[in-house]
Amino acid sequence: MSIVEKIPESVRIIGKTYDIVLSPKASMPNEYGLCDSERQRIHVMVDASNATIIDTLLHECLHAIDFSIHLELTERQVHATASGLAALFLDNPDLVNLFKEAICGRVGKSGTRKGT
Ligand SMILES: [Zn+2]
Repeated sequence: MSIVEKIPESVRIIGKTYDIVLSPKASMPNEYGLCDSERQRIHVMVDASNATIIDTLLHECLHAIDFSIHLELTERQVHATASGLAALFLDNPDLVNLFKEAICGRVGKSGTRKGT
């Protein structure tokens, strides 16, 4: 089962709202994602495995964080950190559940994508 319909319409990143734009492979044939920090949009190519989509979301969110606080991370650093976090979350669902429980009062407020 794809997780695409559970991807939120937007994410808050250090005080800014980034819209998440879902794109088929035909629209993004050469990349899995793109962070447009000027327009505050994160594009995700959704014709991919769940693990790849999660990795891409983390990757593009890291680019947004990098842009916001001027870390000046290299593409390699963003890639490695996103892949490391994705692996951490995918390999440790109990840890993810702990995070969800710790922020329980905030979970669900932004809702999920409608109509997809
Ligand atoms: Zn990148």
